[in-house]
Amino acid sequence: MNALAATNRNFKLAARLLGLDAKLERSLLIPFREIKVECTIPKDDGSLASFVGFRIQHDNARGPMKGGIRYHPEVDPDEVNALAQLMTWKTAVANIPYGGAKGGIGCNPADLSISELERLTRVFTQRIHDLIGIHTDVPAPDMGTNAQTMAWILDEYSKFHGYSPAVVTGKPVDLGGSLGRDAATGRGVMFATEALLNEHGKSISGQRFVIQGFGNVGSWAARLISEMGGKIVAVSDITGAIMNKDGLDIANLLKHVKENRGVKGFSAADAIDPKSILVEDCDVLIPAALGGVINRENASEIKAKYIVEAANHPTDPEADEILKKKGVIILPDIYANSGGVTVSYFEWVQNIQGFMWDEDRVNAELQTYMNRGLKGVKEMCRTHNCDLRMGAFTLGVNRVARATLLRGWEA
Ligand code: GLU
Repeated sequence: MNALAATNRNFKLAARLLGLDAKLERSLLIPFREIKVECTIPKDDGSLASFVGFRIQHDNARGPMKGGIRYHPEVDPDEVNALAQLMTWKTAVANIPYGGAKGGIGCNPADLSISELERLTRVFTQRIHDLIGIHTDVPAPDMGTNAQTMAWILDEYSKFHGYSPAVVTGKPVDLGGSLGRDAATGRGVMFATEALLNEHGKSISGQRFVIQGFGNVGSWAARLISEMGGKIVAVSDITGAIMNKDGLDIANLLKHVKENRGVKGFSAADAIDPKSILVEDCDVLIPAALGGVINRENASEIKAKYIVEAANHPTDPEADEILKKKGVIILPDIYANSGGVTVSYFEWVQNIQGFMWDEDRVNAELQTYMNRGLKGVKEMCRTHNCDLRMGAFTLGVNRVARATLLRGWEA
């Protein structure tokens, strides 16, 4: 099932549990605005290259639309649409005053030089600058983009609208970025995991983890989980997969990744087949890469007792059913990875206040939001007698539905 069909299905199941009116359901599902632009840039060798960029603004009932911009070869409108919708429910689950949006450019950032990436980012910003803004739509990093990308967007946007640091989050700290934002998604995953395990009379310490994906989210989650005493037995990234049953030395692995641009070749581990990483023996599986990786092909082979979705939509609905029957507990993406957008919110608040928080405050507030989030999700699970995914969807969809009804439609 593609990402959009899967996300729509989860939304519709939640709408049914909530007893939403069919017309309201339809209005919540259709994106507010879909933007598709052509971005042509001169390459370093003088030739031209054309790319297609998207910004899909899903919903703004609860506040400015919010979500990342992804640079990846597989970016397509359906996928961006699904990710935008997931942002709407995610910001509502986190209970931060935002709607949802997502953007992306179909490109392989690894094939572009730094100056080509800068030109592409600036052209994309020129195409969308009139449709984003501090109180309308606030982009952030996602796969293939980072703080530098946000700095270019901020600079290009400011040429049209004056200097406006709050127009993007996930900026470099020197340009008004928040302390703790770089680690925030991974730290939120750690807090969410600890909160879930505590509910089951366990804690991170002593559990065995497998992490698929070792980019910003996966590597921060690995670092913080290992600092809490969790044993990371296997990790993977695009270069390969590695395993050490006694636990990987994450501090050394991070050094290796910095020097070798990937986990491949790390000496204190065995190389394993990257395809098998999701089905390796562990207590907690953390998919932290692309969507759709847990599907009917591998779901029945999964050995983990818990899955914490650091990635967006890593689990296909068919796999959800198989895993539910096996008794695997899944902490869904729209709660589990909400730490990133939550600290984006803190960054935006700091920019608007013109007052910078110290990192301890950022991390402490993030923990409060993550703990409160899980409580809210569990409450909906009890009310609707459903699993954690539907608990999170009903929580998010209900908040957006209430805001929509309060605002009304009168033209
Ligand atoms: N791209 C991240 C996500 O999927 C962060 C979005 C944001 O901070 O606006 O949640």
